[in-house]
Amino acid sequence: DLRLRDHPALLRAVTRADEVLPVFVPDPVLLRPGGTAGPERVGRLLASVAALREATGDALVIRAGAPETVIPRLAAEVGAAEVHVTGETTPYGRARDARVAEALAGDGRALVRTGTPCAVDPGVLRTRAGTPYRVFTPFLRAWRARGLPRPAPDPEAVRWLTGVDSEELRLPGGRTAARSPATAEPAGEEAALRRWRTYLSDGLARYHELRDRPDLDATSRMSVALAHGEVHQRTLLADLATAPAPAAAVESFTAELCWREFSADVLWHEPGAARRDLRPGLAGLTYDSPDDSPAAEAAVTAWRTGRTGYPFVDAGMRQLLAEGFVHNRARMVTASFLVKDLHLWWPVGARHFLRHLRDADVASNSLGWQWVAGTGTDAAPYVRVFNPVSQGLRFDPDGTYVRRWVPELAHLPGAAVHEPWRHPEGLLRGYPSRIVDHEVERREALARHEAARG
Ligand code: FAD
Repeated sequence: DLRLRDHPALLRAVTRADEVLPVFVPDPVLLRPGGTAGPERVGRLLASVAALREATGDALVIRAGAPETVIPRLAAEVGAAEVHVTGETTPYGRARDARVAEALAGDGRALVRTGTPCAVDPGVLRTRAGTPYRVFTPFLRAWRARGLPRPAPDPEAVRWLTGVDSEELRLPGGRTAARSPATAEPAGEEAALRRWRTYLSDGLARYHELRDRPDLDATSRMSVALAHGEVHQRTLLADLATAPAPAAAVESFTAELCWREFSADVLWHEPGAARRDLRPGLAGLTYDSPDDSPAAEAAVTAWRTGRTGYPFVDAGMRQLLAEGFVHNRARMVTASFLVKDLHLWWPVGARHFLRHLRDADVASNSLGWQWVAGTGTDAAPYVRVFNPVSQGLRFDPDGTYVRRWVPELAHLPGAAVHEPWRHPEGLLRGYPSRIVDHEVERREALARHEAARG
């Protein structure tokens, strides 16, 4: 949680001791070269940590290494009886914090968990039958019925413990953060709150009408700040309650925030859903594997590099590599293309997304993929196959999004970019031909689905 406001764990620490030492541990499992996070994601994290360090007047201490070793050692070094954190909700984070708690307890110290990154902690809401929610709409209803949680007050005064040795802000393995101009956006809590206030006054009012349009800058992009804990959902929800925007816009935005919490709740109950099909119903479905088939490997490479020959898909995949961000509509269409046009199992794509997304969130990502793949809870039915051309024509009607990310098509006018093969000059500037025929692959996907059900 790389912020100082609306931070119950910090507030609690401040009430327990005169001085508090803020610590960040770059976890080598996540950040080592070739690890889960790629350069864009690492760069963004690093920028956020740097902003927090500045906000603490350089009190923030960096200690790289396995958290279960580094934290108890540092606690002993400064004589801290308690280590305060925000409660983790992901399978990896929960297991890691359990190891830290055990190591601290061995030394007579305590790991104190306060709250979670959600407004309603995962695991709290249950159906009348006492079971976890599997369907979004009733979850939303129950989530709303709990009322708005108030943001935590600012601590009156925080006295940081200073004079403790810190490592440089450098990632394990001597890895540096490659920053591309596209992502040189300001990071940290202040920048996130500024972005949010601007969005509240200039963008929110038309959210419900324009949120599906990747050609427009119509969504908040708060996912990146939320993923780093630069802001908490509580703060956003409290501001939404008094926002100068139509009720439909506020409701639509709130529901999207709730999707984030629904995903976290599902993953809380089913930690295996980060890597496996949540519903076993499609277990018999056959997928191609890039490990066994050179054709599948070539297909996945074309998908990753944005060279499938389907402009809307390629724009999304290139935005991912260039910016570490993808508009939600493009996430759905690119994901559908991998699963249903290229017949690859969703985790192949989910891993690639997690590596590059600056808002990488294992719950929203895995469940987003499973929604598209038809394997999740409350997912789109498998037989709903996104058509990459009609999706482009509908949600990027003038082709602006495609032209922004696919320069080989920048010479084509208007919506012609979505079907360059129909235009006499469409494929003259290096844009590839389609690697598959969507209609043929759609039928193939449905045939595989039928066979699996049979
Ligand atoms: P806005 O439209 O402004 O929405 C406001 C906030 O609501 C977002 O910041 C986000 O926190 C939440 N939100 C919106 N849509 C969703 C959704 N469908 N599911 C969960 N939360 C949502 N979101 C992530 O934060 N991290 C991920 O790793 C991630 N991976 C995804 C993978 C796939 C295949 C799909 C289909 C969706 C994924 N999403 C993920 C959800 C969604 O695409 C992003 O949250 C959204 O695009 C972020 O842009 P924004 O902040 O401008 O969203």
